[in-house]
Amino acid sequence: MAEFESGRELRNKAVREILRHLEEAEVSGIEFEGPEIAVYVRNPKFILEGEEKVRELAKLLKKRVVVRTDPRVRKSRDVTLQHLLQLIPEDVNVDPRDVQFDEVLGEVRVLADKPGKLLGKGAALRSQVLAATGWRLEVYRKPPMASKVLDSIMRHMAISSERRRKALMEIGDRIYRDVVVGTRHVRIIGLGSFSEVGRSAILVDTGESKVLLDAGMSPSGTGLDAMPYYWTPEFRVEELDAIIVSHAHIDHIASLPLLYKYGYRGPVFVTPPTRDIMLLMLADFVELAKREGQEPIYTMKEIAQMMTRVITVNYDTVIDVAPDVKLTFVNAGHIMGSAMVHLHIGQGLYNILYSADFKYYRLKLDKGRRLLPPAVEEFHRVEALILEGTYGAKEPQPREKAEEDLVALVNKISESRGKLLLPVMAVGRGQDMMYVLYTLMKEKRIPEVPVYVDGMIYEVTAIYTEYPELLAKPVRDLIMYQGENPFVAENFVFVNDEDTRQEAINSQGPAVVISTSGMMTGGPVLEYFANFADDERNVLAFVSYQAPGTLARRLAEGEKEVEVPVDGSLKTLKVKMEVTSIEGFTGHATRSELLSFVKHLRPKPRTIILNHGEPAALLSLGRSIKESWQRMGFEAPPEILMPENAESIRLFPRSQKVKVALDYL
Ligand SMILES: [Zn+2]
Ligand SMILES: [Zn+2]
Repeated sequence: MAEFESGRELRNKAVREILRHLEEAEVSGIEFEGPEIAVYVRNPKFILEGEEKVRELAKLLKKRVVVRTDPRVRKSRDVTLQHLLQLIPEDVNVDPRDVQFDEVLGEVRVLADKPGKLLGKGAALRSQVLAATGWRLEVYRKPPMASKVLDSIMRHMAISSERRRKALMEIGDRIYRDVVVGTRHVRIIGLGSFSEVGRSAILVDTGESKVLLDAGMSPSGTGLDAMPYYWTPEFRVEELDAIIVSHAHIDHIASLPLLYKYGYRGPVFVTPPTRDIMLLMLADFVELAKREGQEPIYTMKEIAQMMTRVITVNYDTVIDVAPDVKLTFVNAGHIMGSAMVHLHIGQGLYNILYSADFKYYRLKLDKGRRLLPPAVEEFHRVEALILEGTYGAKEPQPREKAEEDLVALVNKISESRGKLLLPVMAVGRGQDMMYVLYTLMKEKRIPEVPVYVDGMIYEVTAIYTEYPELLAKPVRDLIMYQGENPFVAENFVFVNDEDTRQEAINSQGPAVVISTSGMMTGGPVLEYFANFADDERNVLAFVSYQAPGTLARRLAEGEKEVEVPVDGSLKTLKVKMEVTSIEGFTGHATRSELLSFVKHLRPKPRTIILNHGEPAALLSLGRSIKESWQRMGFEAPPEILMPENAESIRLFPRSQKVKVALDYL
């Protein structure tokens, strides 16, 4: 077993090294905040001049170290603001309302249209402001679309900064606690999404610590059937060290605030875009329950409690989440901010890669139509892979063919002067469809008809444009270097009131309407459908998955008479509009992409655990890997497991006898 230093020893060592390395900084305080160590100094110049020393120190301590000025050496807000405004170059726009001070962190945050230009060569402005005022300047790009959500997050963070610091210090105490038993084993217990799709939740147990990967709810289940197996004896909220969230889809996040309701007070680790989208989705989840006259299972209170403890981690950054667990997020290509989760357990003992939902394609085969880059395939070490298998059995038609189908439909409605209705989820497919339509219009493959975009898609799209650096290269270049934002193209109309909605419904010429919800279980899409259904010039096209039993699925299967809630009462509709499905726009890896990912993954895992798929899909995927392990580059046949919820799997240590027996099964 690896030996651990006790938390106290570790802290004492850290304090000694900090004082030794940062002598000229005039250290006035050291705090352990969540996964990082905050050092307060009286010499502001040191923050920039001593960057190299801080980096060395962080390497030595294997911890994130942030240096802040002692509040007593900072100038007042007014003086700092005046100083800052004087230094802004003429061709950079900064609205004084976009300058915010965080007293706890000693940070002044500025939104600017040209952040690089504002900061100047080598971020010169940062040094000037720091030396003159004692405030650390952080510059962010002002999002090209205004997002109410980002505003509210910023406000929330600013108001509760002190509370957040306290929460982070508690979290830090727990991460750097004295090790009690050390890493005794590595086990995983599936709480949800095993042999099924929905309610993703996986418990990782090392004997020393417990970490939860995702905390979803099944969108199609009801009551306890929608919940992960939180009643499993291995899972106890008070023993949980950390929650790590792969991405902001409901089946991965919806039960998070519930865990706070039942007493969890630890951290939630997410990427920055996931934090933003997650807040939007969870707030909407509560609102939706209220609108439908139900008692929400949690409220904004629990969501706020959670937000105070959310810790963002960028891709490819290693961070401590428990005494013996290190986390790295890498891009998963599924939706904005989506991550594969890499866990390094027990100082070199064992490494798990949780793929979560991901998209994989070979970059050289791409025609520049994708919004997000493909998932990462290279790692330091991977002993076990938890692999999603949504499309394990089925190969949808190729992406190019899907685009051709869409071209044909748009051309058709533009000739017949009909409407094309595309029901989508707010996150992922909504943005995909906007980008595809934008590209097709630019290439003149379809005419420039108005595209109405309704539902939460606007807010989510605004979040997409806040992180252009995370988009696929062609889109990134378009937004960042050519100043062209495909999401605000001239013929896109964002519907945010009933008048615009009526305009979309009653407009005379052809139009495309993209609206939520994707499975037609609610949302504005129902109003469009009710108005478009009895005209055979109109087309309803499904571009994503429809769960069994939903209105979308029934229509896709050919039902011609359906009941739809309109203005609070059920209305029977005869469906005369054309109903069709376009496959191939999926955000998940298709069967061939799943196999290609396993083939290109480096290094090769010894164990592959399949989840997030119907049993038939997972079986088919597992069989294909087993049959072609040599061609995929494995040195020995990988062990392939397909557990059910509530099963526990001991991954380490593994008795050699059991391993051999399994290989011969
Ligand atoms: Zn997803
Ligand atoms: Zn999912």
